[in-house]
Amino acid sequence: MNERANPADLSVDGPLYAARRKIYPRSVSGTFRNVKWALMAACLPVYYLLPFVRWDRGPLAPSQAVLVDFPNRRFYFFFIEIWPQEVYYFTGLLIIAAMALFLMNAVGGRIWCGYLCPQTVWTDLFYAVERWIEGDRRERIMKDKAGFSLRRARELVAKHGIWLIIAWWTGGAWVLYFADAPTLVKELTTFQAPVAAYLWIGILTATTYTLAGFMREQVCTYMCPWPRIQAALTDEWALNVTYRHDRGEPRTSAKKAEELRAKGLPAGDCVDCAQCVAVCPTGIDIRNGAQLECIMCGLCIDACDDVMAKLGRPTGLIAYDNEVNIQRRIAGKSNIYRFVRPRTVIYAAIIAVVGAIMLYTLATRSFLDISVLHDRNPVAVKLTDGSVRNAYTVRILNKQNHYRTVALDVDGLPNLKVQVVGSDAATGGRPHIAVGPDQTAELRVLVTMSPGLGHDKSTGLTFRITDTDVRESAVAADHFILP
Ligand code: SF4
Ligand code: SF4
Repeated sequence: MNERANPADLSVDGPLYAARRKIYPRSVSGTFRNVKWALMAACLPVYYLLPFVRWDRGPLAPSQAVLVDFPNRRFYFFFIEIWPQEVYYFTGLLIIAAMALFLMNAVGGRIWCGYLCPQTVWTDLFYAVERWIEGDRRERIMKDKAGFSLRRARELVAKHGIWLIIAWWTGGAWVLYFADAPTLVKELTTFQAPVAAYLWIGILTATTYTLAGFMREQVCTYMCPWPRIQAALTDEWALNVTYRHDRGEPRTSAKKAEELRAKGLPAGDCVDCAQCVAVCPTGIDIRNGAQLECIMCGLCIDACDDVMAKLGRPTGLIAYDNEVNIQRRIAGKSNIYRFVRPRTVIYAAIIAVVGAIMLYTLATRSFLDISVLHDRNPVAVKLTDGSVRNAYTVRILNKQNHYRTVALDVDGLPNLKVQVVGSDAATGGRPHIAVGPDQTAELRVLVTMSPGLGHDKSTGLTFRITDTDVRESAVAADHFILP
């Protein structure tokens, strides 16, 4: 990958810092621009409106479909409720996300960067506002050169005002994922919301405004690690936005090209109009080859296709392609595409396996759980009648949104007496414990062994809780220790 192909770049021996060269991307229409508009139209409403989507979980649970409930340490996603003990689901999601990114990269280059990354989507949105108020590329360049005027001041106030509203809306939507959205909106508007909510909205407003309004392509070029990782992960078969130099070179003007062709001399299809550069949101020239700055948004394809159509030449001078096919065409061979390769198979297999495991564990997950912690000091107490008592901290998790009563059994030694401290059922029989909806009950459990029954220093015990109404049970293992 050529990191120095952009003339604006530092030379190898040059300074380590270069001031940003302001970029004025021209508007363009075409297939890839339409795909970007469609994805933006699909993704932004989801982001802004999802916190208001309701999901009925019963009267004792939050009714927000997607909610990160920090105070109660829960994450809700429609019918899924994740407890702190189940954070491994997030590990699974992160693995799937990483593999999906790798797979996209192996198939079609930086699809994520060009179409789906929030930095790209919001920068695109901010550019749309800029064009709407200040005009297209040429007008914006002229206005910046012309200097300050009252009309210019009005335009700048309007542009920055709209940018700030979008940024504020973006930050505001983010905090709504962390509390009941309608309630928080009411509190925010009446200045009764927690200070943290205002603080986070302020931080996210500032970052959105700065990243999408000012830093733009610099985030992709200098701050994001993905271009470097992507460059190390790609291979010769990945389809990247490519200038087909086999077809475009030697580049010359449209008129000269016609003259050369009329004489039977070679002439490339590139007419050196620089429209591909004019529309590029990172300001690079794709004809210089693969570059770190290229987010592969495909807008140069649209611009060049437009030029080719006007010239009556075939479209696709810039296209999703690779160097293998360029070399094959130069050698007079036809294109070949290899989507099924060891790396794509491995990425897809990992996604499928991790996804299947997650689905299986979700489908079969227990709504009842138990954990046991043996007392460390003392580990055992010998009572006056010769019996031995061990104490445990037992946590019972009820993941259902209604009250449940569970029976506690401890197996492993004969005639054990199980006592739950503070429980009326403590003195014999089988203790029954009531656990509130979506709650954890923490108990202190005393297990007593009659004199002379155990001889091993440590004997394994099984703690079992059973909800007899639905016949659901959970077990945990620990030990009974003699003094
Ligand atoms: S838009 Fe197409 S024809 Fe024009 S300079 Fe770029 S590659 Fe060449
Ligand atoms: S070179 Fe083309 S694909 Fe790459 S960022 Fe510029 S416009 Fe997008």
